[in-house]
Amino acid sequence: MPTIFTKIIRGEIPCYRIAEDDRYFAFLDINPLRAGHTLVITKTETDYIFDLSDEELSGLILFSRKIAKAIENVIPCARIGVAVIGLEVPHVHIHLVPMDSMEDINFKKPKLQFTPEEFTRIAKQISEKIEP
Ligand code: AMP
Repeated sequence: MPTIFTKIIRGEIPCYRIAEDDRYFAFLDINPLRAGHTLVITKTETDYIFDLSDEELSGLILFSRKIAKAIENVIPCARIGVAVIGLEVPHVHIHLVPMDSMEDINFKKPKLQFTPEEFTRIAKQISEKIEP
């Protein structure tokens, strides 16, 4: 059974897409800690990040850096926090969260809510800032 993220990659479930290449895909987390909270996922379905090959793992980090730089351009923040949890969705993903304080990356706090129009606008703005 495909993961929910594989269904997103295939276009079977909608998402607020930011970018993709042949191996990685970035989209907004639907339950964000901050505006611009993004998930970067592998296109291959691996559960645990440390089971990735050296090459897949380094590629994931490099792709995430491109996305993080674009988020920084759109969302005013001190830096982009990086978290790997994976307890909910068994498909490798990195959380990129704009941060000004530790509280911004506290996954226990209530998540923010945005309208579809707001999510769409944020995703588009970030997408437009991605360097080739
Ligand atoms: P975790 O596996 O604990 O890292 O959490 C999975 C993350 O995926 C959570 O932050 C969810 O809000 C997010 N998530 C789950 N389903 C979707 C979806 N359909 N679109 C966007 N984000 C999702």
